[in-house]
Amino acid sequence: MEFEPVIGLEVHVQLKTKSKLFCSCATEFGAAPNSQVCPVCLGHPGVLPVLNKQALDYAVLCGLALNCSISKFSKFDRKNYFYPDLPKNYQVSQFDKPICGKGKITFLINGNEKTIGITRAHLEEDAGKLVHSETGAESGVDFNRTGIPLLEIVSEPDLRTPEEAYMYLHMIKNIIEYLGVSDCNMEEGSLRCDANVSIRPKGQEKFGTKVEIKNMNSFRNVQKALAYELERQEDEILGGGIIVQETRLWDADKNQTFSMRTKEEAHDYRYFPEPDLVPVKLDENYIKSLENQLPELPFDRMNRFTKEYTLTGYDAQVLTSSREIADYYEECANLTDDYKAVSNWVQSELLREINEKKISIKESKVTPSKLTDMLKLIQKGVISGKIAKIVFHEIMRSGKDAEQIVKEKGLVQISNPDELKNIVEKVIKDNKKIVDDYKGGKEKSFMFLVGQVMKATQGKANPQLVTKMLKEAIG
Ligand SMILES: [Zn+2]
Repeated sequence: MEFEPVIGLEVHVQLKTKSKLFCSCATEFGAAPNSQVCPVCLGHPGVLPVLNKQALDYAVLCGLALNCSISKFSKFDRKNYFYPDLPKNYQVSQFDKPICGKGKITFLINGNEKTIGITRAHLEEDAGKLVHSETGAESGVDFNRTGIPLLEIVSEPDLRTPEEAYMYLHMIKNIIEYLGVSDCNMEEGSLRCDANVSIRPKGQEKFGTKVEIKNMNSFRNVQKALAYELERQEDEILGGGIIVQETRLWDADKNQTFSMRTKEEAHDYRYFPEPDLVPVKLDENYIKSLENQLPELPFDRMNRFTKEYTLTGYDAQVLTSSREIADYYEECANLTDDYKAVSNWVQSELLREINEKKISIKESKVTPSKLTDMLKLIQKGVISGKIAKIVFHEIMRSGKDAEQIVKEKGLVQISNPDELKNIVEKVIKDNKKIVDDYKGGKEKSFMFLVGQVMKATQGKANPQLVTKMLKEAIG
């Protein structure tokens, strides 16, 4: 029997507002425990929450970017449950009238377009955080996170593979980062993801019993947890068992999911309208004004890059994977017409360096003008592509101009045949057997000879000239 996976994701995005959703407490990450709290977010009796306008703007912006319908009428509800990190014993969320209704996003997977439906996106407040001592003997509660605005984005069960889920998450993160409304840092918890997973026999329309997976703290872990869970469910069914509706936790160390609670133990949240907050009514002008603030979004920008800079879909996808990288690329593209070369250098050397150094592209000393100046030296034949790597790393290190580095280090390409003549002759003389191999039809041997000349000149010889001279000398 062949099975088809059915996956839906719930993504919590922490909105980057200065203050919390219903009070004026700061939201900064990493502050001393319980230093960013007040009677409102601690749920003292008699206090009144007030909705943060910025959080509302951000939520609507996200909704528009996810092609969601924006509700002109929405309201907040209390989601009731008990947990030590929840001082009010309820979370203010949205139940039947979310701020954002149905939407969809499109992304590329293995070169093909895939569109995934969005069921809804709603605003809610975050809970606090339990902190356990190393010995496990004590636990404390940090309420700094309590009341921080979250946007929960719920997808339709349209995803069919763990890889699709991974790419979907990337696109959500990408879009939100383009909007600048969240840091989307999974390790710091500003982006969190839960998954609903089931399988069904191929061709069957009815969904199988779904299992919810929690506690996945990286995109790769989401992919791994889904792959594990799909296999577990298949084994269970093929072994004559049944799938139990339950919540399972991902254990990244053991690489498996384990049961946390079954449906019988599931919460009944007893949602009811939040009496302390007025419903949110939005008019057309407000929604229009936010629509006008939308930047060009990643998928559109990717498509434009393929056309405007004649890049492949893959290249364009990498270069638009963050707004900073895309901006950097376009700045370069304004300074040179060698779009492909810029694409290669950004994707290989530049991204590798900034990833290794854990800096942002803006912090790199290789500015767009410094990079394109260097590319012009290659174009003019002043330096070879190989030498350019040395120059690149020197710019990265010192921030000096390419031209200056080339002069100081004597890296100018040797394009004068007289300077290369003796070296070419010596290489041929020292490698008689390889020359014979080449004459006998072994093309690879020729590359070895070119390599020897390059080596002898510390990579400074003009490779085209070396090729020409070797061919002439060997005859
Ligand atoms: Zn507060």
